[in-house]
Amino acid sequence: MKNQILKCNIENFESMRESLSLQAAIKEANRCLLCSDAPCTQACPAGTDPGKFIRQIKFLNFKGAARTVRNNNILGSVCAFVCPVEKLCEEKCSALALEDPINIGGLQRFAAEYGQQNGVEKFTPSDKTKAKVAIIGAGPAGMSCAAELAKLDYNVTIFEKNAVAGGMPHLTIPEFRLPQNALQYDIQNLLDLGVHIQYNSPIERETQIKKLKEDGFNAIFMSTGLTEAFELPIFKECKNAVSYIEFLSRAKADKKAFNLVDTTVAVIGGGSVGVDSANTAKALSAKKVYLISLEGLSELPADDEEIRLAQLMNIVFKTSSQIVDVEQDNNKITILKGLEIEWKELGNFNPANALTIANTEFKIPIDFVVTAIGTAAGSEIPGLNPNLKIKGKNTIQANDEFCTSVEGVFAGGDVVNGGSTVVKAVGDGKKAAQSIDVYLSK
Ligand SMILES: Cc1cc2nc3c(=O)[nH]c(=O)nc-3n(C[C@H](O)[C@H](O)[C@H](O)COP(=O)(O)OP(=O)(O)OC[C@H]3O[C@@H](n4cnc5c(N)ncnc54)[C@H](O)[C@@H]3O)c2cc1C
Ligand code: SF4
Repeated sequence: MKNQILKCNIENFESMRESLSLQAAIKEANRCLLCSDAPCTQACPAGTDPGKFIRQIKFLNFKGAARTVRNNNILGSVCAFVCPVEKLCEEKCSALALEDPINIGGLQRFAAEYGQQNGVEKFTPSDKTKAKVAIIGAGPAGMSCAAELAKLDYNVTIFEKNAVAGGMPHLTIPEFRLPQNALQYDIQNLLDLGVHIQYNSPIERETQIKKLKEDGFNAIFMSTGLTEAFELPIFKECKNAVSYIEFLSRAKADKKAFNLVDTTVAVIGGGSVGVDSANTAKALSAKKVYLISLEGLSELPADDEEIRLAQLMNIVFKTSSQIVDVEQDNNKITILKGLEIEWKELGNFNPANALTIANTEFKIPIDFVVTAIGTAAGSEIPGLNPNLKIKGKNTIQANDEFCTSVEGVFAGGDVVNGGSTVVKAVGDGKKAAQSIDVYLSK
């Protein structure tokens, strides 16, 4: 049973997916081969254990399935909507050898929604009998690390610079891909564990880290993600060009933040965030939306499902193309000028490897531009501790146990891996919690 995506609701920012009915969920779970080694389970970076929750659905233990998802993955509801299952559990599903893989994403949504609607008994709050741990950043990695530590009875506080928890999924992933109630359910589960979240509390200076230690926090987990989007120098100071982070976060917080009715919008960048920006622009009633990428259509880094959605939304893919210049009127871009490209070395999609092709010039008249060409970690990160080893794009160097070069300071999620997925960040957070437990138990 293929995952259905629905175009009709996207303009209203309603979910692009239909939930599986009880009958459909049982029918799908009945296709499961109940593999003893459950390759789907082994393929999940967060240990959500699809093999177990699908078996529970098959044997009509729906509450048990909801419990499995929630207990194994504090962002189980979020992951049920945004996980790239085609590249993870479903890719490894044994049923693929016979026909379609099991619709694991759909069944996880069913289990998570069952939990929300029918109530799974609440988590018991942490006894807080063990050491104090500070977590910086309430995104998936921080939430997951906090949940695991709370279950081990640590006294956990998350310091979050924004007024909400949930990181990038909360701030930027459009509601048609991730319904708000899924995230709220996961956040509530975290709060039920007794984790304290201190909002509007950025940790940006070395003195603040020292103060955390003075305040008795025996370990720190850095999970600050990637917060600074790259800009294209040719768009600098243009009034009608914004980064995808600004575009998606402002559009999500207030659908009137950008008036794109009947406009032509160009999104530069063919990754998932570019496709999200293009679909959002279309949902905000833009007349025409271009997605301009160096990569060819089959090379786009965005997931297949996101591309299918963009095709349903009539996004114009201007692939194998590079914007090299602009025409402006009063600091507003009016025309994008570009050239088609080919790769100097095949299979190397680095912008430096792009070679423009002579006599392929094109011009696109536009009203608004969104850049989605990459992101770095916050520029404050290197200044937090002079001994903190930093890699490219201000990301933090950490070993397989998520230890950084500073004793007692751990790090995981996007701020270490340079940008991955929610489920990877959840997995990092869980494993880092185990390392922190070992460190604090010494
Ligand atoms: C538009 C978009 C779409 C995406 N779509 C998908 C998808 O479909 N599927 C998928 O799996 N992944 C997707 N991702 C990637 C996914 O969101 C990230 O991989 C994941 O959120 C990383 O989690 P994290 O906890 O490491 O960081 P983040 O989610 O970035 O969370 C970091 C948190 O730290 C806070 N913070 C930052 N600096 C500080 C500071 N100095 N002090 C205190 N707090 C701070 C931030 O406010 C934020 O809340 C998408 C990302 C974006 C931007
Ligand atoms: S790999 Fe597929 S068939 Fe096997 S247990 Fe997992 S979902 Fe079922």
